[in-house]
Amino acid sequence: MVRAINGGPALPTAKPPRPYEKGVDERPTLIQNVETLAHAAWIHINGAAAFLEEGTRNSPGTALFTILDHHGDCTLIEAPLGMKLIELVELAGIDHHEVARVLLGGWFGGVHGQEVLGLEACFTALKVAGSGLGCASITLLGVNEDVRAIVAALGAWYADETANQCGVCRNGTKSIAKALFNNANGQATDTDLENLARWGTTLTGRGACAFIDGAATLARTTVAVISSKQFMEPRAD
Ligand code: SF4
Repeated sequence: MVRAINGGPALPTAKPPRPYEKGVDERPTLIQNVETLAHAAWIHINGAAAFLEEGTRNSPGTALFTILDHHGDCTLIEAPLGMKLIELVELAGIDHHEVARVLLGGWFGGVHGQEVLGLEACFTALKVAGSGLGCASITLLGVNEDVRAIVAALGAWYADETANQCGVCRNGTKSIAKALFNNANGQATDTDLENLARWGTTLTGRGACAFIDGAATLARTTVAVISSKQFMEPRAD
């Protein structure tokens, strides 16, 4: 955004400097989402100590959780960071027994089996688990949903939406999309699955922004999910 305002292409730059160090017209520039600015206003009125009373030590405060369920219904909940994902799901009025898989962080935190619902919904716990809270968007997939087709569609989205600026992202997203497509069509070779698992770690952190990290996390977690003992193909009915 800063680069575009300064007259350049709307593409991420190498960091540092970050915008708060040198941004619009080379001056320190704050870029925050509305939720963060709302927190800042709340803290200004109520004080930092009150904010720290909510959430966990490493992830204080609250977050706006967007929960999209397998019926297509969407619920927005403000809740303290650190609540169990399963508690958020129940708060949204969803029976967790109907949840087969979970996409986290939009889908930048990858796809997971329903056992992930036992984790705390906070930045720290999900990062330790190899995922991420990201924008706090949680998508629940039911037992009848074809997770292979869904992750293949997400892989294609990464390949379409890459800014094509970094070679590792331009080529990596396309390779991941191809392997996920093969997986969805029952044509994945052992090499496809080995590549997905490997790219899931080797590509992380290699781009000018975190976009390729999201594709890598999807690749890695997809292999983990479909290799899981609990993995079931969608029911035919
Ligand atoms: S990592 Fe991908 S999306 Fe990010 S700047 Fe590089 S090419 Fe663009």
